[in-house]
Amino acid sequence: MKQFNHFINGEFSASSSQVVFENRCPVDNHLIGQVAEAGQPEVNAAVAAAKAALLGPWGDMTQAQRIQLLDRVAERINERFDEFLQAECLDTGKPHKIASHIDIPRGAANFKAFSETLANHPTESFKLDTPDGKGALNYGHRSPKGVIAVISPWNLPLLLMTWKVGPALACGNTVVVKPSEETPATATLLGEVMQECGVPAGVYNVVHGFGPNSAGAMLSGHPDVDAITFTGETRTGEAIMRSAAVGLRNVSLECGGKNPSLVFADCDLDKAIEGTMRSAFVNCGQVCLGTERVYVERPIFEQFVQRLKEGVEQLKLGRPEDPSVDFGPLVSHKHRDKVLSYYQLAKQEGATVVIGGGVPDMGAELNDGAWIEPTIWTGLNDDARVVNEEIFGPCCHIRPFDSETEVIALANNTRYGLSATIWTENSSRACRVAEAMEAGIVWVNSWFLRDLRTAFGGAKESGIGREGGVHSLEFYTEIKNICIKL
Ligand code: NAD
Repeated sequence: MKQFNHFINGEFSASSSQVVFENRCPVDNHLIGQVAEAGQPEVNAAVAAAKAALLGPWGDMTQAQRIQLLDRVAERINERFDEFLQAECLDTGKPHKIASHIDIPRGAANFKAFSETLANHPTESFKLDTPDGKGALNYGHRSPKGVIAVISPWNLPLLLMTWKVGPALACGNTVVVKPSEETPATATLLGEVMQECGVPAGVYNVVHGFGPNSAGAMLSGHPDVDAITFTGETRTGEAIMRSAAVGLRNVSLECGGKNPSLVFADCDLDKAIEGTMRSAFVNCGQVCLGTERVYVERPIFEQFVQRLKEGVEQLKLGRPEDPSVDFGPLVSHKHRDKVLSYYQLAKQEGATVVIGGGVPDMGAELNDGAWIEPTIWTGLNDDARVVNEEIFGPCCHIRPFDSETEVIALANNTRYGLSATIWTENSSRACRVAEAMEAGIVWVNSWFLRDLRTAFGGAKESGIGREGGVHSLEFYTEIKNICIKL
């Protein structure tokens, strides 16, 4: 059985209280290992180590040296690819097929993606006239922000964590990571990689634990944390923002969504079906950018519902290591209880269940896992809770529409604003509708196509701030104006 310890100041350690919690695999509920739960002493030690490291060899490194070291981290993740893959799939139950081409390679790439932005992004400079005629020169200078708390979720554990750690370190900060209690493994493994690559002690720290009254809340409330970057539920984002208000610390919040997909009758239907199969069901529907509301123009509505149903019938559920498997379990029994409560609610709210709606029989070996059926509904009212609340499971509701104006209003009728997907072959319509979407990210005739240089984040209750490319640079550095009287 494995032991997942904290990684503080370059060393692995258990909690002084010896308190641990279980880490179970959602595929069959077997016990993977015990995880140390941090208390205030561990959080204090990690933040102190991160603070001290800002002044040590890390602080003295040139930008080029830091970037070289982070390139090495990316390479080392790739060298230990199979261990990362194994760890991620045990924690989440997701198929190797997915994690081996999304989670792990993109997780490693996050350590390389920001070096070019850093090297090529200029700061501003202004010459100011002064009464003596000699003038003054202003120029912007970027410094690291300091100690960054990284609080991350379980759905893409390595990828979403390194999406923050990569640019934070590239900018010269130090980090204390609090991975999700459901998925402690890859953040821990990354500690080993940091050691192997010679990243100075205290630059990358990990504390394990839960949110409220545990490591998450202790970390976000710590006065020596200079900024907090968080991905997770909107309600958690609010709690973190309240903590960050003390001391006026900066936050970047990437939160929940209830993302629409708008399918026009002039779309390429094959592409729209293939894209919606991915956006609604990949990673067992546990993708923040995924689609839970599908609006289909009436002339193709019946055909779309039928074809999406046929697509779901083809999905193969099974063990992560089976290369023919498309679909794993949910991350935990706790999360399955939540998703199943929405499956129940959908029936109470009057949905027609097109397919799914329950728990599949996976056979004796897997029946203790957190398995769930991919599900499609039609027939719900626009004010149904199932149509308005984020479920974060493999399910979507499909509703017909009759006009562009109507579907724009329907799509925007939500507290969230993370992503939207538009399927049409009419490019004028695509631009018009994309611009009307109240969302941080809009895809046209694609989904989850990510260029790491672009802005990533949500509108409305889906978040605050943007990360990616220069936007990460804005968050992870403090810009100071230097004014020189000539
Ligand atoms: P969550 O909010 O429950 O937990 C996320 C992290 O916050 C975990 O590490 C957790 O321990 C910690 N946490 C919980 N309460 C806390 C508190 N009071 N103070 C400090 N830390 C606390 O989210 P989750 O269930 O792990 O992830 C699913 C959610 O994440 C969904 O809502 C999904 O949409 C969202 N998500 C958003 C994005 C995005 O980029 N916008 C990406 C992935 C997931």
